[in-house]
Amino acid sequence: MAEAITKNVGQVWWNAANAPWLLHREPFRVAPHVYYVGNTWVGAYLLDGGDELALIDTTTFEDYYQVVEGVWEMGFDVRRIKKILLSHCHVDHVGGVNQQKRISGAETWLSAADAEFMNHPANRGTDGLFKNPEFPVDHLYDDSSFIPVGQLKVRTRLSPGHTPGTTSFFIEDKDEDGNTLIVAMHGGVGTNTMDDGYFEKNGLDKNLRRQFIDGCEAMKAIHVDISLPSHPAHGDLFQRISADPMDYKPLVDKGEWARFLEIRKQFALDLETK
Ligand SMILES: [Zn+2]
Ligand SMILES: [Zn+2]
Repeated sequence: MAEAITKNVGQVWWNAANAPWLLHREPFRVAPHVYYVGNTWVGAYLLDGGDELALIDTTTFEDYYQVVEGVWEMGFDVRRIKKILLSHCHVDHVGGVNQQKRISGAETWLSAADAEFMNHPANRGTDGLFKNPEFPVDHLYDDSSFIPVGQLKVRTRLSPGHTPGTTSFFIEDKDEDGNTLIVAMHGGVGTNTMDDGYFEKNGLDKNLRRQFIDGCEAMKAIHVDISLPSHPAHGDLFQRISADPMDYKPLVDKGEWARFLEIRKQFALDLETK
């Protein structure tokens, strides 16, 4: 089973780098003012703040054209995206940054820890599969305040583990009736970078895994109405949505966030006992 999964991920990565159209996914709405514009492997979210648009993550350099297409398809002008909020510095989330900067002059946000980690050898090597261009980090997250995106408020929370500076997002949105909905995305829950072998190979602190486990536990207490994953498969996103791409309502579930964090915490706990 484990071998099958590894092989499967390998094929997905190869496709993402060489035949990204095989990962195409029609965009869809996930919250009153949030849209999924990623592919079948990695997520990207468009935030519609009214007079301002922002993106959370950009997928890879090779796949980015599909994000651009998805934004247009949802009825928005990609030239209006002025902020790019990055969950962490891995190539599958930051690859499209320079393209979007060129399109709209958007400014980037990243945590201080990942702004440093992005030049670490562990992050520069991507087996030559994806282009991993350097890009300027225009702003560092300040978790004590919020980032306005038009009428939306985006709060951040440092969530180390998957990388030292992985950052989670909590978006304050309003539905058609004026009710506030909290939409959250954990910045990175993949345990592929949390096993002893990875820490040793890259000279990283094993304590990162403990920080991830404690972070998941602490964040379970936060009220979240709509839980979004950074990779759709991590939170069964495609299984939870409506057949109508504009109907986000099936994703409103107050229990999903804590369930999701508990599952991801358990994966990391399993690595502790190995
Ligand atoms: Zn990652
Ligand atoms: Zn990723």
